[in-house]
Amino acid sequence: NKGGDSPYPWDLEKKYTVSGVLGKGSFAVVRRCKDKRTNIDYALKIISKKVIKGKEQMLTTELDVLKQVDHPNLVTLHDLFETKENVYIITDLANGGELYNQLEQKGHYTEKDAAHLIEQVLQGVAYLHDNDIVHRDLKPENLLFSDATPNSKLMITDFGLSKILKNHDDILMTACGTPGYVAPEVLSQKGYSIPCDIWSLGVILYTVLSGYTPFWGQDQAALFDSILKGRYDFDEDYWDHISNEAKDLINKMLTYKPSERITAHDALKHPWFEYAAKLTVPQA
Ligand code: ADP
Ligand code: MG
Repeated sequence: NKGGDSPYPWDLEKKYTVSGVLGKGSFAVVRRCKDKRTNIDYALKIISKKVIKGKEQMLTTELDVLKQVDHPNLVTLHDLFETKENVYIITDLANGGELYNQLEQKGHYTEKDAAHLIEQVLQGVAYLHDNDIVHRDLKPENLLFSDATPNSKLMITDFGLSKILKNHDDILMTACGTPGYVAPEVLSQKGYSIPCDIWSLGVILYTVLSGYTPFWGQDQAALFDSILKGRYDFDEDYWDHISNEAKDLINKMLTYKPSERITAHDALKHPWFEYAAKLTVPQA
């Protein structure tokens, strides 16, 4: 920072105009910014080094993944700045907000719309898995719409908990993720890997179609117990009108044994996607 009152590094300010807050996470403030030369809008994630003290690994991993990935359904890195106090990460702007908020507003999605969403997430996840990256924190809060149109592209974000495997068959032990979406093998602490993301995606698919999560508990202990049992049902009141193809894909994603769980590539070939794409949307 070359003096003045600007809170941003001078080289960032030379290239970008920074504006309002888009969102806040546990460690970061995200603002909108505009490339002065191209007029393209981006997201600027500002992470205070003081705030992440002791958790530097998360930032290192997030940057390692961002630098390595390039896929339409993953938020990608555009630019990077660093000062003594902060790290400034400039990525694709997701102008349509979180799937979490849209789901809250809508209640649930039609099968046609849900299939369009889940297919995009699966494309991103398949790419990550092909590159031996486990996301480990897939949930509606970390899925962002690129714009506010009904057919908006969906992008996976937040690689802070991701793990880049040294070998494809590496077994991970660290329990992490978000209660509700986390796979049973992550909770049971006997080792897990790539399939844990598919479980989370199964929970997301279930939730997007019904408006409620498949595993539930009065408190965290009861929730964990419910996930560890791995039992869920398709309550008639909510699932009666939903196709068997959708339920079959959910069952294959929420398969308890990770080795028997469907992979991202096989899930993309599941007949539900073709079935749902042909459904006609009722006119409002
Ligand atoms: P943290 O790592 O601290 O959890 P996130 O990366 O999850 O931070 O970002 C916090 C919030 O900022 C997100 O939940 C989202 O609402 C908003 N946000 C993050 N990235 C973008 C983006 N690329 N475009 C638009 N909004 C974003
Ligand atoms: Mg977050």
